[in-house]
Amino acid sequence: MTDTPRTDVLIVGSGIMGSVVARQLRDTDPALDITMVDGGSAIGESPGLHLHDLDDPLLWARYNEQVATGVQGMYTGAEVVREVPAGLTGLTPGMVHALAFGEDAEEMPATALAWNAGGMGVHWTAATPWPAGHEVFDFGDPARWAADLDTAHRILAVTPAAIGPTEVGRTVLDVLSRRFDGTGPDGRRPQPMPMAVTPTTSGPMPRTAPGTIFPALAVGGDPAFTLATGTLATTLLVENHRVTGARLRRVADGATSVLLADTVVVCADALRTPQLLFASGIRPHALGRHLNEHAFITARVLLDLDRFGIGLDDLPLQRPGEFSTDSLWLPQNGAAQPFHGQIMNRTYLDEDGRPLAHSVGLSLYAPVASRPENRLVFSETQTDLAGMPRITVEFGYCDADRALIARALDEVRSTAEEFGPFDPATESALLPPGSSLHQTGTVRAGAADDGTSVCDPDGRVWGYDNLYLAGNGVIPTAMAANVTLTGAVTAVRAARAVARRHTALATH
Ligand SMILES: Cc1cc2nc3c(=O)[nH]c(=O)nc-3n(C[C@H](O)[C@H](O)[C@H](O)COP(=O)(O)OP(=O)(O)OC[C@H]3O[C@@H](n4cnc5c(N)ncnc54)[C@H](O)[C@@H]3O)c2cc1C
Repeated sequence: MTDTPRTDVLIVGSGIMGSVVARQLRDTDPALDITMVDGGSAIGESPGLHLHDLDDPLLWARYNEQVATGVQGMYTGAEVVREVPAGLTGLTPGMVHALAFGEDAEEMPATALAWNAGGMGVHWTAATPWPAGHEVFDFGDPARWAADLDTAHRILAVTPAAIGPTEVGRTVLDVLSRRFDGTGPDGRRPQPMPMAVTPTTSGPMPRTAPGTIFPALAVGGDPAFTLATGTLATTLLVENHRVTGARLRRVADGATSVLLADTVVVCADALRTPQLLFASGIRPHALGRHLNEHAFITARVLLDLDRFGIGLDDLPLQRPGEFSTDSLWLPQNGAAQPFHGQIMNRTYLDEDGRPLAHSVGLSLYAPVASRPENRLVFSETQTDLAGMPRITVEFGYCDADRALIARALDEVRSTAEEFGPFDPATESALLPPGSSLHQTGTVRAGAADDGTSVCDPDGRVWGYDNLYLAGNGVIPTAMAANVTLTGAVTAVRAARAVARRHTALATH
C-alpha cells in the first residue's frame, strides 16, 4: 500500500494546448481523473481567463498598453530584457523574455515564455489562420487531418470574419486581391482574418482562452479535475519505458512531492516540453532539433485617403475595448505567394476623438527551412531561473531563408506603397528571431521512429507507452501562418489517443 497521490491523467501546462487536451478528455469520459499542473500562478482572480476580458481595471489597462503595437514580439517589451531576477518567487506572473529566465537565447533574443497559469493563452491576439500546402502534416490521411482541423476550429471557437472588414477594410482587401490575383485557390484569397473570439454586436469581443476552452480551469466545478498552479513538474518518473508520474515542486516554498499517473501529457510549450523530457533522461536524437520560427517582417503605412477618395469622417473607429478596426489575412499559397500576411488596421484619433489618419499594419511571416542544426541544447550542469536544465538556442538562417526574407522585405515595401507614401527604412523592420513567439519543431511528430522525430503522429513519445506531447513543438512542418490552431490539432490527436488508452485500460 502507498499513500502517494495518483491521477489517471497528468497534464503539464495549463495553456491552450493543455486545456484542449483536458476538454477533449472530459468530453469522452466525465469520470476520468485529470490533474493539471502549471509552474505559473494566475494573473487576476481566475486562472486561464484572457486579460482582454478581465474586469480588473489595472490588469486590463496593462494588457492594453502591452498589446497596443499589435505586434506580439513587442508585447513583452520593445527592449529585450536580459537581467535575470534573483529568484522565481519575486517574478510577476506574465510573459518573460527567455534571456531574463536565465536561458542562453541570444540567437533568438526576442523569444519569451509564459510564466503564468493559462500560459500565452491569456495574452494572445487570437488570429487563427488555417494551414495549407507544405504546412500540413496529415501523415497520409487527409480525411483525418481535415476532421482534426475542424475539431480544433470548433474548440478554439474560430470566427471567420470577426474584426471587420469595415468599408475601408474592404478597400484594403481589394488592393490585396488585385495584387495577389491568381496566386491561390478561392478559399485562400485575401480575406478577413479568422479569429478565436466570440462575436458581439458592439463593444469588445471576448477571446478564446484556456479558461473558456475548459471552464473548470477558471471556475472549478469539476470534481474529477484538479488544477495545481505555482507547481512545477521537475522530472517525469520513468520505469521500463513507461512514465509512472512526476516529481513536482511548489514554487512558493520549494516543497517537493510525487504524483503518480497512468498517463502523462506534456503541453509545456516548444522550449520547456523538450526541457522537461531532457531533465527526465528522455533524450531521443531529435529532441530540441528542428527548432523553427518564421521570420517576422512588420510595417505600418498611413492610408493615402485622397488616393482612395476616403474622407476623414468615413474612417472606421475601433470598437471600445478593441485595438484595431480590421483584422485581415493574406494566406500563403506556396511558391507563388510564400508569405503569410497579418494585417491589423487602426484609425488614429485627435484629443477630441475625431479621426486623424488610418494606418494599415502589415506584417509578413516568411517560412524558414526546417533544419536539425537549428536547435535547443540543454545543459547537464547549468540551470535556468526555474532550476531546470539551462537552454541554449542555436538558430540561424540559411541562404534560402535569407533570399526569402529579402523577397519579403521587397514585397512589404511594394505592397505598402500601394496604400500610401512609405519609407521602408523607418516604417518597416525585420524583427529579431523569437519575435513571433511561434516556435515549432522541437519535439516534432513523425511517421517512423527514424531519429528525425520525437513522437508518433498522436504525440506519443517513441518507445514510451504512456507519455504524450501536444503543442507547437510537435509541428514538424515549416509554418508560415500563426501556429496555434495548427498546434491545437496535435492536442486533439493526443487527447483522442489518451482517451482510447484509458478506455482500453478500463475494459481490461
Ligand atoms: C501577445 C501574444 C500574441 C499572440 N498572438 C497569437 C496569434 O494571434 N495567433 C497565434 O496562433 N498565436 C499567437 N500567440 C502564440 C500563442 O499564444 C501560443 O502559440 C499558444 O498559446 C501556446 O500554447 P501552449 O499551451 O502550447 O503553451 P503556453 O501557453 O506557453 O503554456 C505552457 C504552460 O506550461 C507551463 N510550464 C512550462 N514548463 C512547465 C513545467 N516544467 N511544469 C509545470 N508547468 C510548466 C508554463 O507556465 C505555461 O503556462 C501569441 C502569443 C502572445 C504572447
